[in-house]
Amino acid sequence: MGSKTIDLRSDTVTTPTDEMREAMKDAEVGDDVLGEDPTVKELEDLSARKMGKEAGLFVTSGTQGNITSLLTHTEPGEEMIMGKHCHIFRYEVGGYSSLAGLSANTLDDSDGYMEISSIRNAVREENIHHPVTSLLCLENTHNVAGGVPLDIDYMEKACEIAREDDLNVHLDGARIFNASTALGIEVSDLVEPVDSIQFCLSKGLSAPVGSMLVGTEEFIERARKNRKRLGGGMRQAGVIAAPGMISLEKMVDRLEEDHANARRLVEGLKELGVDIDPDRFKTNIVMMDTSQFGMKAEKLRTKLEEKNILTLALEKNSMRFVTHREITSEDIDEVLDVFENEIF
Ligand SMILES: *Cc1c(COP(=O)(O)O)cnc(C)c1O
Repeated sequence: MGSKTIDLRSDTVTTPTDEMREAMKDAEVGDDVLGEDPTVKELEDLSARKMGKEAGLFVTSGTQGNITSLLTHTEPGEEMIMGKHCHIFRYEVGGYSSLAGLSANTLDDSDGYMEISSIRNAVREENIHHPVTSLLCLENTHNVAGGVPLDIDYMEKACEIAREDDLNVHLDGARIFNASTALGIEVSDLVEPVDSIQFCLSKGLSAPVGSMLVGTEEFIERARKNRKRLGGGMRQAGVIAAPGMISLEKMVDRLEEDHANARRLVEGLKELGVDIDPDRFKTNIVMMDTSQFGMKAEKLRTKLEEKNILTLALEKNSMRFVTHREITSEDIDEVLDVFENEIF
């Protein structure tokens, strides 16, 4: 048995490549709050171009990108529509309410998708008692549902419904390149109908820090001010933008490997008799219900940790595995081996 730790907790654990570290050393920098960092500008321009939008903004994290977007799209006291299981609602410390002053009308999105008809029904009618519904938030890929890539048809339909009621649409696209890769389409086509997108450089794309927020020039100009208000104005940020350039130029094409490894894991587990649906996991995230082994996820997580395999117990009976650049197909085989010989 190998002694290497196989870390399947998240794609956030990926470390910068040697090329990224070299690029950091050589990055041309300036004071970005004064608009003088050429590397940050290059990254913002490239991000906007890739997404087919006008402008981009380099932010410190996905969470900062999302809250900056909410602040820019809405006024305090308004309401947004989002999935019950989405990251903004569950894992961003309630910033939408404490920082942006918004309420959330949450819809069922257990399989990643909110029903189009329920989105329509969730929009508040004009009435003296009602908050104004002003924003729809989508998440693609949908993390908690198991990395589900929302297809282009759904993206278009959801945005069309939103438009009918004058809502803007923000996409939490932390893993949007995993979605476009799995769907086999251009990322710019997939995000075409939304107003703004946040995507992470620091997940499967392997950069050490940062996310991008993109949208119209007018939107990004206002978002830049909101980022500053949040303390996200950075100075010689070119040193952390430089690896982000490599993320966009060289790390997107290899995401397919992560998806193949996730598939290898699911198919292997299925072969070992695990009740898991191979068709459900199309990207780099795999969820497994541990109640079928009569075991809480936390108990199984501890057992695997003893074998140097790190996972997340996401809920009482739900274990999450995430593949990424530092996980090989041999690692997956080793995990399957441990399941076969040590767990079952
Ligand atoms: C990771 C993640 C974020 C937040 O990114 P951070 O950089 O960790 O703040 C937002 N949305 C989704 C779907 C995520 O998976």
